[in-house]
Amino acid sequence: MTSNTNTMASNSLNFSDKLFCVATGKCPRCAKGHHFEGNNPLQPTKFMNVQKRCSSCDLNFEPEIGFYWGATYVSYMMTVAFSLTLFVASVIFFGFFNTLNVKFVIVNAISLVILAPVFVRLSRTMWLWWFYVDKA
Ligand SMILES: [Zn+2]
Repeated sequence: MTSNTNTMASNSLNFSDKLFCVATGKCPRCAKGHHFEGNNPLQPTKFMNVQKRCSSCDLNFEPEIGFYWGATYVSYMMTVAFSLTLFVASVIFFGFFNTLNVKFVIVNAISLVILAPVFVRLSRTMWLWWFYVDKA
């Protein structure tokens, strides 16, 4: 089912194109197939559902059982980076450093809850791209 144009697609991409593919949840081999079943990351019941195989090049999206457990580390790093960025922004723009805490913690907590599906999907796609090895 795979063709050379499909298997070489992601190898010929430059770094910014690869980042765009990761952000939009594309397949690491062909950069065409979608990694997730639904396109909406805020759909509460399906936002974590990874497709079994790529619809375009038939790449196995779950190479082993529990493959995506490691993506939790990526998700954790993204939430920490987001919180630190939000903290620095709150200090710079709103002077929360002295009066900090309650406002920052509330805004940060609400932001993290809202963005959790986005972080989960991004981390899973990053994890797949990180460990993707082209065996073609
Ligand atoms: Zn593919």
